[in-house]
Amino acid sequence: MYDIVATPKRTKEIITRHGFSFKKSLGQNFLIDGNILTAIVAAAELDKTKGVLEIGPGIGALTQRLTTEAGKVTAVELDQRLIPILQEVLEGEEHVRVVHGDVLKLDLKELFEQQFSDVSGVSVVANLPYYVTTPILMKLLEERLPLEHIVVMIQKEVAQRMAAKPGGKDYGSLSVAVQYYCETSIVCHVPHTVFIPQPNVDSAVIKLSLRSKPAVDVQDERMFFRIVQASFAQRRKTLANNLTVVVGKDRREALNELLHRLDIEPSRRGETLSLEEFGRLTEGLQNTGW
Ligand code: SAM
Repeated sequence: MYDIVATPKRTKEIITRHGFSFKKSLGQNFLIDGNILTAIVAAAELDKTKGVLEIGPGIGALTQRLTTEAGKVTAVELDQRLIPILQEVLEGEEHVRVVHGDVLKLDLKELFEQQFSDVSGVSVVANLPYYVTTPILMKLLEERLPLEHIVVMIQKEVAQRMAAKPGGKDYGSLSVAVQYYCETSIVCHVPHTVFIPQPNVDSAVIKLSLRSKPAVDVQDERMFFRIVQASFAQRRKTLANNLTVVVGKDRREALNELLHRLDIEPSRRGETLSLEEFGRLTEGLQNTGW
């Protein structure tokens, strides 16, 4: 087994020896704290029957730990310069595969079929590049990949928005989108001091556990998300005012009547509505022909 990568000394040694320079544009902040790795890996509930997709392995700090816990690990790294470093750090680990590529462009369904046909479940575990956190997570969720958990380190504010409940300033269309597919919990907060180089923001580890079916049952998912987007479009406007943009000004009266019938007060703001209420609203609008 290669020396532990996630220490300040070892990380500096590896990057100096390989002449590696960090690219801020790729969100390269490498973890140097073993306790945070322990918290991430524990949250992922791994064992030797499980597979893991890691996105952005960097120099392998987390990958190394994942290989000791999971039966199969596939790590997708965009930066070609990191591939030889990963090969060195992971040498001799038969059940790890490093893929050079952009996770946003990869055919993940195909990758899952190729890599994870013989495991009992797959989770995504990663310290994500912050500049593409939301597109990566939405890709994982919208493609309906057969995932158990997604345990990721992301910017603290984004984690808070994803896990937020109705009524607060953090609750928005991102909260609804993520909670439609997953149960959410914040695993831990992470200071910026445990990375090389240190990012300008604090981080958090969030755990998303995939639901067996979406949180609400709607006939038309696209319409559900359109209504959610519209309801949060202008946060200071009432729900009825925001929805008028969708249904048209001439139907404002009918909209108010429908909202009353659905037991949703038109003067409420979008940020107070639960997922269940957004679902009821979608079905109500659909059934009245909007
Ligand atoms: N996992 C390592 C760690 O914890 O120390 C590195 C994490 S670093 C925050 C993010 C990593 O994602 C970098 O290695 C970066 O090169 C890689 N990356 C950035 N964009 C990517 C993309 N679109 N697809 C795959 N990897 C990407």
